[in-house]
Amino acid sequence: MNRAAQLLMLQKVELEIQDKMRLLRQVRRALRNTEELEAMRKQYGEVQDDLKELEALQRELELEVQGLSQRIEEHERELYSGTIRNPKELAVRQQKLEALKRRRDRLDERMMRSLENTEKMRRRIEQLRERLQEAEAKWEQQRGKWEDMERKLKRYLVYLRRQRDEIRQSIPRADLELYEELVRVKGGVAVAELKDGVCTACGVGVSQGKIESVRRSTGLITCSNCERILAIVT
Ligand SMILES: [Zn+2]
Repeated sequence: MNRAAQLLMLQKVELEIQDKMRLLRQVRRALRNTEELEAMRKQYGEVQDDLKELEALQRELELEVQGLSQRIEEHERELYSGTIRNPKELAVRQQKLEALKRRRDRLDERMMRSLENTEKMRRRIEQLRERLQEAEAKWEQQRGKWEDMERKLKRYLVYLRRQRDEIRQSIPRADLELYEELVRVKGGVAVAELKDGVCTACGVGVSQGKIESVRRSTGLITCSNCERILAIVT
């Protein structure tokens, strides 16, 4: 293999390494990206806290209604026991009883509304739980795929780097220096394949004389247009 072809081979391996590194970074980013899932978990937790508050309120209301019902019963027992004979006293007691009953009615209404809210909240939690479970399962599946891909990419990169090191060892230092300088100034592409008389990097035709030189030469010939090293793959 001539020197230009060796450099072209090195370039192919190095570009492949860059490409796979890019992919590996993307995969790792994807593995870290659990924002959506965390937002869902947070929302789920918040709604559960809301439900606990509602349930506590519900219990308070129930206790209050219980207490009121007891007092109403006591008042009724007293009223209908016949122990209060004074009509004025009776009227006062009757009014008090009515007031207590009105209060209980209002509390009952509040309790009904609170029950409805609690029910709504429970349904919402159930929906959120289902959505969260779905998202968790999907994520687990996706994560498995990403992790598998990460493993494969890492293995492949180890292989590519070994290959790159072997190729570099067989290339003369001066060639490597020219190659690296061109990589730096030519957007990462230092070597261009010469195909059908055209430089494949810039698309400009190469003179017949130069083509012959590239074919025969053991030295490095560059494209007169883009200045990249020309290589013929045989
Ligand atoms: Zn060119």
